[in-house]
Amino acid sequence: MNPVIQKGSTVLLPDAAALYDDDAYVTYGRNGLAAHEALKAALCDLEHAAAVELYPSGVAAIAGALLAVLKAGDELLMVDTAYKPTRRFCDRTLARFGVTTRYYDPTLPAAEVANLFGPRTRAIFLESPGSLSFEMQDLPALAAAARERGMLSLVDNTWGAGLLLKPLDLGVDISIQALTKYVGGHSDAFMGSAAARDPGVCGSLHAGVVDLGWSVAAEDAYAMLRGLRTLDVRLQRHGESGLEVARWLAGRPEVASVLHPALPGAPGHDLWKRDYSGACGLFAFVLRPARPEATAALLDALHLFGLGFSWGGYESLAIDCDPQLEVRAFRRDYGGALVRLHVGLEAPEDLIADLEGGLAAFRAAAG
Ligand SMILES: *Cc1c(COP(=O)(O)O)cnc(C)c1O
Repeated sequence: MNPVIQKGSTVLLPDAAALYDDDAYVTYGRNGLAAHEALKAALCDLEHAAAVELYPSGVAAIAGALLAVLKAGDELLMVDTAYKPTRRFCDRTLARFGVTTRYYDPTLPAAEVANLFGPRTRAIFLESPGSLSFEMQDLPALAAAARERGMLSLVDNTWGAGLLLKPLDLGVDISIQALTKYVGGHSDAFMGSAAARDPGVCGSLHAGVVDLGWSVAAEDAYAMLRGLRTLDVRLQRHGESGLEVARWLAGRPEVASVLHPALPGAPGHDLWKRDYSGACGLFAFVLRPARPEATAALLDALHLFGLGFSWGGYESLAIDCDPQLEVRAFRRDYGGALVRLHVGLEAPEDLIADLEGGLAAFRAAAG
């Protein structure tokens, strides 16, 4: 049923000819052994991909995919609502290697994003829904526009976990995931993946991993494989509970709006309905305008929701987002403080009771 966890750098080969026969044999442990192979095969099925590469974290997958397809002199179009470390990698490391990054507004229609494509633009990076603020992008239209102009499209597919969204079916060239989140599902291991279909793109991704010397531990590959086996049922529960909590929040007087693409009437709901087969447990809500201390009072009053980064595990989490929004080029006024929730596998009525206590503390501190 389950692959063995092989811990090996050296692989002993049967004869002299096999030493250099990379097509027939895995000749070195860094390239991945049984658990890695099983995980890659499963992720290929999940993402409808021809090949998948593994990376030591989600950030490493993003960095690795971008390094694999860009070169000095290129321009990258990056969605302004990208995960913050993605932006840091572009502004710091890619810039040092002569790749310029131009940020674009996630709410710009695809035709207008296409107007931004210049002679040096090589790739466009998408993230839908966007980190923290959940703006939805028209992935097939953006991927088609990129392809028409001979450039590549990459998407951060962590919210969709490979199961709720199939970016490669929508024409996107590279689907990247932080497996750390829902695929792992227990907040206890880091890993990232990049999936592709085009042989040239697959070759570039593979060469990138080989050249940078990245490998992941067999135990972690095994943990991800085990997470995959329950991804579907966990996501169903996360999605249902998340929507229940989101609906409850939408009816609260302290809440100005709920940013959850699967909530009817929420921004981007039509795109979610068209492209996604479900929702996960991650969304945000906007509080009514209040003193900043009131947001902290809300968070500090929570007992079931832990305060911490990351998401995708069994546990519910909350963070305030405003300090992270300051780096954005197209800053939007959401009308109040933005709070992001990860709705875990606890009973939704308990989570709602916890939030009720948080909102009471918010009211008391709002002034
Ligand atoms: C967490 C996250 C990542 C990075 O994953 P790590 O494994 O923590 O490096 C990338 N993209 C998104 C959208 C994330 O939430």
